[in-house]
Amino acid sequence: MIELPLVNNNKRERKPSWLRVKLPVGKTYREVRKIVDEHKLHTICESGNCPNMGECWGAGTATFMILGNVCTRSCSFCAVATGRPPDYDEDEPRRVAEAVKLMGVKHCVITSVNRDELKDGGAAIWAETIRQVRLQSPTTTMETLIPDFKARWNALEVVLQERPEVVSHNMETVKRLYRLVRPQARYERSLEQIQRTKDYGGMRTKSGFMVGLGETEEEVYELMDDLLAHGCEIVTIGQYLQPTKHHLEVAEFVHPDIFKKYEEIGLQKGFKFVESGPLVRSSYHAERHLI
Ligand code: SF4
Repeated sequence: MIELPLVNNNKRERKPSWLRVKLPVGKTYREVRKIVDEHKLHTICESGNCPNMGECWGAGTATFMILGNVCTRSCSFCAVATGRPPDYDEDEPRRVAEAVKLMGVKHCVITSVNRDELKDGGAAIWAETIRQVRLQSPTTTMETLIPDFKARWNALEVVLQERPEVVSHNMETVKRLYRLVRPQARYERSLEQIQRTKDYGGMRTKSGFMVGLGETEEEVYELMDDLLAHGCEIVTIGQYLQPTKHHLEVAEFVHPDIFKKYEEIGLQKGFKFVESGPLVRSSYHAERHLI
């Protein structure tokens, strides 16, 4: 459920020119920084070392990460800290909503860490966060990038019944690489989560995955077909970047032309929207996905 990490490592010098990004500066950036800090919130932008912070925060948006900043899973691509999280913060939903209101965004994206140790996987806090945002910013639309809740489908329903406009769940990689990339996740379980969301009705379904992990083009098309067969309408595709030397190495820096090809083929296959590019992350340009 977590987004793609940023950067760099021991192979920084080999990064191609198309991965260069804007430095995080400017008045709007500083205002977002202040809101996040004063409300003691976490963002996947920071925890995931996202390369787009200069652009997104500079445009006044950020993706909040709820249920703390320690994840119970240890995906080998992800920059978010892993371990046993402290108790969750019951006031976090109110502070997230207040921050969304202060930022004045028309559309917001919220994600979370995995909280597999909780009976409901954190679904109650998810639902309360959606309610609080609706209360404080009734015209703001929402994308919730949620976990698989370890197939506790009643927990998924607790979130879905709050009806965020877009519900996303990231596949992250192709089927063959699951054990390596997402050892505590299951390819079929994530597809089932998307199918159940689609079947619940009334919300846009979205997913995202990384390339550059060693997958083949055929495997990417197989993943697209599986997503479409399970009701996914929107997909994001971005380059994997190794957050630290302890994470998986980049197998390939995929050329922008291939991203363009994935976009064209994804649209031909039937996705309503494909956001595909080296720096694309699941919340990148998320307001465009409200189709
Ligand atoms: S792409 Fe998403 S995670 Fe990255 S900076 Fe933008 S809002 Fe944050």
